[in-house]
Amino acid sequence: MDLVPKSRIDLDTAALGFRPDLVFPVVGVTFEGRQQVLAEASGLLVGGRISTQNGLLTIVAEPSNKFDPDAVSVSLRVDGALRPAGYVPKKWCPTCGTALPARDYNTTECLTCGRDLTGPEAFLNRYIKENYLDKGFVAGVSWIGNPVGTWAMRVGITRV
Ligand SMILES: [Zn+2]
Repeated sequence: MDLVPKSRIDLDTAALGFRPDLVFPVVGVTFEGRQQVLAEASGLLVGGRISTQNGLLTIVAEPSNKFDPDAVSVSLRVDGALRPAGYVPKKWCPTCGTALPARDYNTTECLTCGRDLTGPEAFLNRYIKENYLDKGFVAGVSWIGNPVGTWAMRVGITRV
């Protein structure tokens, strides 16, 4: 079973310049000035790519995070400084790409598409930490936008 619909992968492959294993939404982007970081980074994305390869994107485990020891943070380099942009979702649906809100962390089935959410890949931050961050990976921003008055972004990641 593909983790992400093929059409989504194809779309994001063009934006990323590599074929991602996973494409996920970054969560927590509305807090602590992160909207401004995304807004500024959107200008970078117009001019080129934002990736771990050119140092404009960083994805790191945050084991001392007081809310979640599995937290994985996403930062963007804007104006020469690495600034927090958000987090890898704690739980998501790999089929439709939806990040689940905290109240649904115990949900065993996606409310949108019905996919079983008990497999390890549904617990995304831990999955990314164990299968990508602890190994070799490349990641990039495949999309930043402001479609409904809130900046949002999508990241693709693959093993190298
Ligand atoms: Zn789903």
